[in-house]
Amino acid sequence: MPKTPEDNAGAMKVGGGHAPEGIERAAADELLRCNRCGFCVESCPTYRATFHELFVARGRNRLAGKALDGEVEIDDELAEPLFQCLLCEACTNVCRSSVKTAEAMVAARHGYWKAKGRPAAMRMVFDRLLPNPRLMARVMKLLATGKRSGLSTLARRLGLLRWINARLEGAEGLVETMPSTFLRERLAGMGFERSREGEETTMVWRRKEGADGPRIAYFIGCGTNFQIPDAGEAAMRVLHAGGCEIVVAEHVCCGLPPYSYGDLEAAEVLIERNVRTLGALGCDYIVAECGSCTSFLRKYGQLGGEEGKALAEKVRDFTEIAAGLEVPKLRDPMRVTYHDPCHLVRGAGVRDEPRELLRRAGCELVELNEADWCCGGAGTYNIMHPELSLAILERKMRNIAETGVEVVATACPSCIIQLRYGARRFADVLGGRKIEVLHVAEVLARAAEDEASEMADEGAMCQT
Ligand code: SF4
Ligand code: SF4
Repeated sequence: MPKTPEDNAGAMKVGGGHAPEGIERAAADELLRCNRCGFCVESCPTYRATFHELFVARGRNRLAGKALDGEVEIDDELAEPLFQCLLCEACTNVCRSSVKTAEAMVAARHGYWKAKGRPAAMRMVFDRLLPNPRLMARVMKLLATGKRSGLSTLARRLGLLRWINARLEGAEGLVETMPSTFLRERLAGMGFERSREGEETTMVWRRKEGADGPRIAYFIGCGTNFQIPDAGEAAMRVLHAGGCEIVVAEHVCCGLPPYSYGDLEAAEVLIERNVRTLGALGCDYIVAECGSCTSFLRKYGQLGGEEGKALAEKVRDFTEIAAGLEVPKLRDPMRVTYHDPCHLVRGAGVRDEPRELLRRAGCELVELNEADWCCGGAGTYNIMHPELSLAILERKMRNIAETGVEVVATACPSCIIQLRYGARRFADVLGGRKIEVLHVAEVLARAAEDEASEMADEGAMCQT
């Protein structure tokens, strides 16, 4: 039986990681490097929304350090500043000592659950659903059916969801609709065939004739599979058109959700499963179009032992691979701005490739003010902390309004969901302008469709 935070009283290592006296001790030592200079204040989205000292790295670090040292009691008052950190790493980016506030918050959250015990919903999602993708898919199918049939909207309007749980009500309104088919269900229709790779059952989309591109293990994240399958499909189509072979294994969630909540033991179970499954495929790269999955799969280098290290070296974001391929051109130039997902830009260090791809596809790129500020999506942050998330989102939408564009491109399902919600919720801020939010891969797929239809037109003209 895997351990839980409640079982782990003292020292722990996540998948062979290197916390000398436990992750909390390491975090407490890290926090000692914070000299309270306050350079991080200006760049912290939660501080700029609240102007509260406990909602910026300087204050959080002080509090977390005291909690980790046992100087303050672990209670609900402490939980607020700890759990309302976006883990966006904007503070670390500007901090002269590069204090790893986000990692320290994760460690402090771990300490919190150890002291308080995890709620039933958290145990159900992290211990039962995430390690069991088939059960997860069944649950998501039920939710999708409820959403598509209008039942969940009706339940929200009648106040039933609020009655069950106020957070459920907020979550229901975040997405306009849910897909009728998940990405994994679409694979066969796209050209994938069932295959065996050693012990693993996989789906493989073999290279097109004459192609010699890399063999890619494609990592389908939960958000992509269940909520934004079009983005994943577009990314795989771009890679395949560029000559790649694509393999999809029966991997599980990357582990970022439990890790972010400080449930390191639940994350460890998922990491170990994925290291085994993906490591067995013998691919050149492991690729995701989700910035959060990309950056967390790279973190396997610290969290997944020696095998995790080898695997992490192969991880690439979709945009990094696509930048090395031929890029199709849009028929009509598109004015577009780009929002940097926190995990992609700071976690994985990918900033230029998405912009370069948009330009090469024929987009006129209008730079967004505060492009790398968090949008307030941050996984389930928009569900757990709706008010703060909304304040952060409004700032993002005001910046988008200033660009005057009608298309926002980004590279993370969580950001796409949040920005689409922002486009509906802040229509007034946008002056009534309709904003389309697309993954970079979807822009490229549109360009490929344009090229295909131009070729078809030319073929038809030649025949006449
Ligand atoms: S986290 Fe860094 S920038 Fe912020 S107060 Fe501490 S040392 Fe200064
Ligand atoms: S990680 Fe982000 S939200 Fe948290 S303290 Fe740093 S800048 Fe603020």
